[in-house]
Amino acid sequence: MRKVVIIGSGCAGNTAAIYSARANLEPLVIEGLEVGGQLALTTDVENFPGFPDGIMGPELVENMKKQAQKFGAEYKAGDVTKADLSQRPFKLWVGEEVIETETVIIASGASARWLGIESEQKLIGHGVSSCATCDGFFFRDQPVTVVGGGDSAMEEATFLTKFASEVTLVHRRNEFRASKIMAERAEKNEKIKKTTPVAVEEVLGVDEGEVKGVRLRNVETGETWVHDTAALFLAIGHIPNTTVFKGQLNLDDDGYIVSHGGGKTSIEGVFHAGDVEDRVYRQAITAAGSGCKAAIEVERYLADSE
Ligand code: NAP
Repeated sequence: MRKVVIIGSGCAGNTAAIYSARANLEPLVIEGLEVGGQLALTTDVENFPGFPDGIMGPELVENMKKQAQKFGAEYKAGDVTKADLSQRPFKLWVGEEVIETETVIIASGASARWLGIESEQKLIGHGVSSCATCDGFFFRDQPVTVVGGGDSAMEEATFLTKFASEVTLVHRRNEFRASKIMAERAEKNEKIKKTTPVAVEEVLGVDEGEVKGVRLRNVETGETWVHDTAALFLAIGHIPNTTVFKGQLNLDDDGYIVSHGGGKTSIEGVFHAGDVEDRVYRQAITAAGSGCKAAIEVERYLADSE
């Protein structure tokens, strides 16, 4: 029987692990499918306090893990495929294994959203990607396309100019929701060409087994055309990883955990941390802060129930 199991190994999960390990709760961290969370998919992190020269995302999250392990946190590879939160001890399934625990911190984050069109799905890993940092390198001196109008799209487009011959930024509206500083950075970059209000209708190259282009459509005029591109990077937001908790926990319409304050969920003893609840800030530092809060709440909860 575990005192606390932390689901997720991003910034939120690792911070919860550091705090709960230092409180002698011997946490078990189930790493999930996206080990290291969103930070593992990014390059320079310039806004995490304490690093005036910036730090690489994967290094930052790996440091957090080492710090947690130093205080006794245990890490387990795998994904929670089933959960029973109806009674204590809570039960979590990782494959065939069942783990029993007095408390749970859900820090399972949010995964990349896809357009959902058939040709896109067929070409994932063959030129269609949700991670410019991971795959941008493969498209050196080739034209690439990014979809989205938020900070991620700006960041990915700017990052891809390091490799690509040109980056086309496709967004469905004329207004971008990205922050001013990120939008301006992309605007100033001569390699980035914006096209709006435009949607991706089809990814071309299914028969060839690699992206050859995209069919774009102006959503106002209905005009369609083929745009040559070697890759399509999706940067259109994220979906919270809460499928296994559906029907058990209070979730909002989009599947994000509804907070009951201070990291609490609708079930006593089950806490949340990071992007699985936070659709607004979604920063490494806010995820870390919420991981800290959740761990402190777990400690108090266990002390009160003794
Ligand atoms: P986001 O802000 O939710 O933006 C998603 C974008 O994708 C929107 O422009 C949206 O269009 C578009 N979109 C959504 N579904 C679509 C679909 N099916 N087809 C076409 N377009 C679609 O997501 P994000 O950019 O990933 O950012 C998430 C959060 O992380 C934000 O708070 C952001 O500030 C933060 N972030 C910060 C940094 C940084 O500071 N370094 C970097 C990355 C992200 P509409 O605008 O029309 O809805």
